[in-house]
Amino acid sequence: MPRRKSPRKIVAPPVFKGYKPFGSSKVCDGEVELLYEEYEAIKLADYDLMPHHEACHLMGISRATFARIYESARRKIASAFVEAKTIKTVYGNVYFDENWFRCNDCENAFTIPNPRIKRICPVCRSQSIQLMNSTGSTNNK
Ligand SMILES: [Zn+2]
Repeated sequence: MPRRKSPRKIVAPPVFKGYKPFGSSKVCDGEVELLYEEYEAIKLADYDLMPHHEACHLMGISRATFARIYESARRKIASAFVEAKTIKTVYGNVYFDENWFRCNDCENAFTIPNPRIKRICPVCRSQSIQLMNSTGSTNNK
């Protein structure tokens, strides 16, 4: 039985659901699933240029676990780049500091600081929104 993994804290979900290559005859030749925690590791280490010992602290995981997630993320992205695969972001094993919602109409991700405010999308005003925090973390691989 696989070892049970503890959830990783991430600050905010990615603002996209995925990436698609273009200009290749091999477009849609497969896809890689990038977990939210892998996205967060890449963001912290390569975008925010945060040292790994700080990044793992922020995500509430050990340095070894962070290194594993970061390595996995880089391999997936490299594989997508080289083999012209689609990248799809999937929930993974994470939790957020605050409640994050995603609009079902425009895909915008947002928080609602005051719970008494009506739950609508701040971009398109749609009422069709869903809570992203619900740890349906069943798609762990
Ligand atoms: Zn919207």
